[in-house]
Amino acid sequence: MNKLKNKYLLIPMSTAVISLILVIVFNILSGSVNDRLYLDFQKDVANHNISKVSLTDSPKIDVKLKDGTIYKTDNPRTDNFKEDLLSKGIQVSEEAFSYNRDVAPVAVLSLSILTIIVMVIRSSNVTSKSLFSVDTLAADAVEDIGFNFKNVAGNEEAKESVKDVVDFLRNPEKYSSYGARMPKGIILYGDPGTGKTLLAKAVAGEAGVPFYAMSGSDFIQVYVGVGASRIRQLFKKARSHGKAVIFIDEIDAIGKQRESGKAGGSDERDQTLNALLTEMSGFNEKEGIIVMAATNRLDMLDSALLRPGRFDRHVEIVLPDLNARKEILKLHLKNKPIGKINMDDLARKTSYFSGAKLENLVNEAAIIACKSDSKFIENEHIDKAYSIVIAGYEKIDRSNISTKDKSITAFHEAGHALVSLKMLPGEKVSKVTIIPSTKGAGGYTLSIPEDKLYQNKDYMMKKLMVLLAGRTAEDVIFGKDFITTGAYSDFKESTRLVTNMVTQYGMGETLGLLNLSELSNINYNPGNDIVKECKNIINSLYEETKNVLLENKDVLNKLSEKLMDKETLNEAELLEIVK
Ligand code: ADP
Ligand code: ZN
Repeated sequence: MNKLKNKYLLIPMSTAVISLILVIVFNILSGSVNDRLYLDFQKDVANHNISKVSLTDSPKIDVKLKDGTIYKTDNPRTDNFKEDLLSKGIQVSEEAFSYNRDVAPVAVLSLSILTIIVMVIRSSNVTSKSLFSVDTLAADAVEDIGFNFKNVAGNEEAKESVKDVVDFLRNPEKYSSYGARMPKGIILYGDPGTGKTLLAKAVAGEAGVPFYAMSGSDFIQVYVGVGASRIRQLFKKARSHGKAVIFIDEIDAIGKQRESGKAGGSDERDQTLNALLTEMSGFNEKEGIIVMAATNRLDMLDSALLRPGRFDRHVEIVLPDLNARKEILKLHLKNKPIGKINMDDLARKTSYFSGAKLENLVNEAAIIACKSDSKFIENEHIDKAYSIVIAGYEKIDRSNISTKDKSITAFHEAGHALVSLKMLPGEKVSKVTIIPSTKGAGGYTLSIPEDKLYQNKDYMMKKLMVLLAGRTAEDVIFGKDFITTGAYSDFKESTRLVTNMVTQYGMGETLGLLNLSELSNINYNPGNDIVKECKNIINSLYEETKNVLLENKDVLNKLSEKLMDKETLNEAELLEIVK
């Protein structure tokens, strides 16, 4: 792209050089030849060589000979000079001659220079827009987006959680007549390329409303205030349409958490964020405008953005599991000429691929098939494409997680699930997966715990065991020297829970029924004793968890095997293995 631009730049550059030379040459010529003695002029007059003379107030007069030559000579400034000439049949004009031949190269020169300037501006990052009017908005609505939920494969849970929004966009009046408040903002979070933009487009498409897309980085400009003004323009445009989906990619560019201690921070970002929040509270529920924003990291966002009435619905978009990958592959191969492709095999070896990467893979395969003049896309093309894509992404993301790592994750998650099913049978484990999410390596999902008003000590102890079970499983299977960092967030949670039990809920020995925060006034520091007690509780629960896993080691093995194979197990599949 850049090379191309440089090539085009050569044209105005060379014309500029040529015309510059011409201008100089003409100037030299006009400077030397065109000044002649008055005597020569008189001679020309006598010889009837002259066709025209221009007589002005200047000290020189211009003379044009019959053969076309032009020269200057001194203005005699005599009273009857004009009459003299006229009587000799010479035309006299009182305007200076315009030297036509000089005008052409000068014009070309200026034109070339102008072109060069414009081209240089265009090719540099400063767009002409931002140069000439600092706050012109780039976003235009896409009216008929042509996307719907059929274009989004997998991610069923995410689709489910935005379906009501589609319905709301279709008839917001209905919702407002029930007094129902729809979220104004939805945050889609998850790894890059998992289809966040796609889902937002699908919402607009399904609802049949225009789609406005901008990126958070578009708002962060060199000039303070531009971002805020762009936000206002964006909303104004969207509102002028009535209903709309406004999509802001990379919302973290404007809504990143303010670093504590660094007061002030970036003025531009704060102004932009404030403008966004103001606009969002500005429109009411009846209007049918939904703001969808995407980010890779939900935990990086400023909490001001996440409060009720703002982006209060958070939808996680996860990497596709085996089945979802198969669907995504099918979707992208649908309109392509395909031979006998082994879809299952392909879906299996693309674990941890994002949707975007799968699409990329299919596209590479199509290119390779086309290059080799094959009628169809075949397995061999896919294989080649696979190597290319893998190499291209190596080290950047998780796609080359080794089987060993995968197996560690499988045992870790199987441990959580198994201990939960054994110790807390009243609680539903709706899903176990080894597909990483933004929250951690793998993931198991507990759906709503048993319905009860209070959590009792027994429940909390068992809950602690479930939290510990991931690490315990690693320990039991791979040995204590091979435990991993995968339990990081489990331990954060278990530590919080056990300290609360000992210091807030009156369930420990050290403080008994005293509440630690209320004790802060008196000079008593039980810190180390509390830590010791919490540690003892956790240690004995860890041993207990270990026993549960050892007693059920064959189930643990079976669970992790199945997880390795299918990557995600739903509730029914889980129960079948465990029972
Ligand atoms: P994100 O916004 O999460 O970075 P995109 O929505 O831009 O990801 O996805 C990029 C491309 O990847 C999409 O245009 C689509 O072709 C493909 N893709 C990603 N996820 C899916 C999916 N679930 N189903 C089908 N295609 C997908
Ligand atoms: Zn865990």
